[in-house]
Amino acid sequence: TDAPARPQRATLPLRPELAGLEPYGAPQLDVPVLLNVNENPYAPSDEVVADIAAAVAEAARGLNRYPDREALGLRADLADYLAVESGVRVAPEQVWAANGSNEVMLHLLQAFGGPGRTALSFAPTYSMYPEYARDTGTAWQVGRRAEDFSVDAAAACDLVAEVAPSVVLLASPNNPTGTALPPATLEAVLGAAADVPGGCVVVVDEAYGEFRRRGTPSALALLAEHPHLAVSRTMSKAFGLAGARVGYLAASTALVDALRVVRLPYHLSAVTQATARAALRHAPALMAQVGSLRQERDDLVAWLRARGLRAADSDANFVLFGTFPDRHAVWQGLLDRGVLVRETGPEGWLRVSVGTPQETAAFRAALSEVGGL
Ligand code: PMP
Repeated sequence: TDAPARPQRATLPLRPELAGLEPYGAPQLDVPVLLNVNENPYAPSDEVVADIAAAVAEAARGLNRYPDREALGLRADLADYLAVESGVRVAPEQVWAANGSNEVMLHLLQAFGGPGRTALSFAPTYSMYPEYARDTGTAWQVGRRAEDFSVDAAAACDLVAEVAPSVVLLASPNNPTGTALPPATLEAVLGAAADVPGGCVVVVDEAYGEFRRRGTPSALALLAEHPHLAVSRTMSKAFGLAGARVGYLAASTALVDALRVVRLPYHLSAVTQATARAALRHAPALMAQVGSLRQERDDLVAWLRARGLRAADSDANFVLFGTFPDRHAVWQGLLDRGVLVRETGPEGWLRVSVGTPQETAAFRAALSEVGGL
């Protein structure tokens, strides 16, 4: 499926910084084993589907009206879920929700970034971050992660002091590396951010938070002490609800209140709110599934290392592995065998999402055939 030909834009008053740019997104190919965008491989169960369908039917009866603009019912349900998942209790007014954590993060940059301000992150990291910055007129700067993809706390604090960003974006677990940041690093960066004149919001992006290994705490535990911290989550991964587009964050009420100013009115449709609330009622069953994906992930890391490959430590539902002298050839070899992974990350590495046991087995078989490329 080739992308459609791009229309001619020469005579349009396009913002100069957008000239020649391609829209972000991985190829959407029709392949038997899709392990390229870190989705949950399990479709919603019949029980979840029935509950969502009933909730959406109920919402449909009121679709002549605009939805609940504050989505407080959903935000209360998300707060209850976070309390169970992480042991940290926040008020519904401390939770913000939007169409995917992509939109949550755009709201953050709209409120706290902007012309004359800078957002800072540590590469390699999620490739949408510079796009949020670009789209909000925020300058963009990156520090480097170490060879093992960790962030050196002292160097990070020096960079925060030097750049004086208004927003720091820290993905933990990070995409594409899968690595999580230790609480000491987060606390050090929060301390440095607190000293930035004019203020600095630290966003910990926990899109993959539920997949963290035992002993890796969530940054939610740091919220009570740090009013400039926002912890972002999504229903796209652990809940297997990527198609519904629901992301959220927890932060101080003051921070959330600022996001209410920049959101579009009625940004979360009644259908979206009903869908998310129905899925949240099934959190216990869905979290059990997360447990088996974690196990599958740990087995995959062990298998890759046993083959003599490198695999980054993963607290996520994917594994960065390599290194290959010609990673594109390996990517193509896997695709030829019906397995789509992602050609991303530092040179020589590839990223594979954790699938069902059958899908992961297909990946192992294909990689064994492609072998020592
Ligand atoms: N943050 C990270 C680190 C991600 O990898 C992703 C999805 N690839 C997102 C945020 C966005 O997810 P969504 O908009 O579906 O919530």
